[in-house]
Amino acid sequence: MPSPASRATINRLLSLTANAGCRGCGRTHAAHDHHAHGHGAPHHLGGAQGALAGAGGHRGMATPVESAVGGPPPGNTDYAFEMAASTLRFGAHATREVGMDLSNMIRQLPAADRSQTKIGIFTDPNVVKLPVMEVVEESLMREGLNWVVWDKCAVEPTDKSWQEAIDFSRTSHITHFLAVGGGSSMDTAKAANLFTNYPEADLFEFINAPIGKGTPIEKKLSPLIAIPTTAGTGSETTGTAILDIPSRQFKTGIASRALKPTLGIVDVNNTATCPKEVSIAAGLDVLFHSLESWTAVPYNQRTPRPANPINRPAYQGSNPISDIFSRWALTTTIKYLPRIARDPFDFEAREQMLLAASSAGIGFGNAGVHMCHAFSYPISSLNKGRPKASQYHHPSYSPTIPLIPHGVAVSLTAPAVFAFTAPSSPSRHRDALSIFLGPARAHELGAIRDEDIGRALSEEIRKFLDKVEVPRGLSKVGYGTEDIPKLVEGCLPQRRVLDLAPVLAKDNLAEEKEQLAKIVEGSLVW
Ligand SMILES: [Zn+2]
Repeated sequence: MPSPASRATINRLLSLTANAGCRGCGRTHAAHDHHAHGHGAPHHLGGAQGALAGAGGHRGMATPVESAVGGPPPGNTDYAFEMAASTLRFGAHATREVGMDLSNMIRQLPAADRSQTKIGIFTDPNVVKLPVMEVVEESLMREGLNWVVWDKCAVEPTDKSWQEAIDFSRTSHITHFLAVGGGSSMDTAKAANLFTNYPEADLFEFINAPIGKGTPIEKKLSPLIAIPTTAGTGSETTGTAILDIPSRQFKTGIASRALKPTLGIVDVNNTATCPKEVSIAAGLDVLFHSLESWTAVPYNQRTPRPANPINRPAYQGSNPISDIFSRWALTTTIKYLPRIARDPFDFEAREQMLLAASSAGIGFGNAGVHMCHAFSYPISSLNKGRPKASQYHHPSYSPTIPLIPHGVAVSLTAPAVFAFTAPSSPSRHRDALSIFLGPARAHELGAIRDEDIGRALSEEIRKFLDKVEVPRGLSKVGYGTEDIPKLVEGCLPQRRVLDLAPVLAKDNLAEEKEQLAKIVEGSLVW
């Protein structure tokens, strides 16, 4: 006769049973019919009622152990969030340390591998001529490092420009990646790093579904250091890389914590050469990274709950830690971006905007963004496919490449978007409004009723965009009523961000389309 099982073994077996079934009720069923079978009381009941419902449910449960120690709340919404951010170093002149950083990393390798190291610097044709590159190369030279430069990162990268950078990286046997530039160069370096570590993978392997396969990245990638030269995308701290696929008139990307740089070096000297319009467009990106992540669906209302933590998306929904970064970045951007519009050499304003960009990066990199970003992709992409005569060119950007800068594209729908989302959380939108109003106009806030918060916030966003000279609506960048269906169609597949949009009718396509069309219509002229 076998000896009786120990208490520990019984507990282990019971907990295995618990994991095979639903965490809430102990039965096995598909995620989509979660809790369609009755429990005697609805699961969403909170407080005492919820406790009673739970107690009633015990009788039918196969998992007394799990319920005894307490499991995650029942349902298909997430119950946890995580914070991932690159190590960041802030400071004027910190760029000159990059050679030592790379040496430090290389020293950790086994002796035989050290001589094989090669650093790939990813930058663009403009930044390669700027003083920042001199500082970087001098720093690498001082350490006796071996490097190659790829200076063809495209502003607004495409599948083609990514593929070229990837081919270069794969054939150059790069072991350490260094991005010097704006979001475009940093995102290209992330892609080069990813696909060099997956030498057989096709470009669409990791691109967000439904455009790509959206395969999770399971390998640890090579070290990547990012040195931003604009105060914008926050790409130095996020796991996001965005690209345009012109053949499909579609802009999307890869979002995975695995992509985030090992280190971001944030040095105010590197934005000194940034033209005013570029600084403003980048700053607008910061503004809406902050405001969208602050108002995104909360993480514990996002579905589906991941079956494995590796599937928990980088964009998880607003959460208490992202909130701190997003709100601070919003306050800072509202204060300092107009100063850059008045004087692009304002040192303090440039310094604060760099901090805000990274801070917003930590916020939205973990919470996500929503509708302004979802719309910005077709807004930017469709412009490139239009007849030459009607293409929009933004001042200070290349006269030969039609471009609605990302930050401007994001801003164009913002007044309509936040009027739409306000009912989801009047208190959060009221708080954002109070930041726009500032201390001098704080007294106005009390007189605004909850139902009018969206309209008031929308009005303040418009005034702010005027101050920084954003074109007043989609009509000013060449879109008309006839483009509404195309902009809605281009926005709809952006599920990664649309799923975080509050109020949007995500389970009713016809209604969702109608809501999106109304937002575009309200964004044509303002
Ligand atoms: Zn952005």
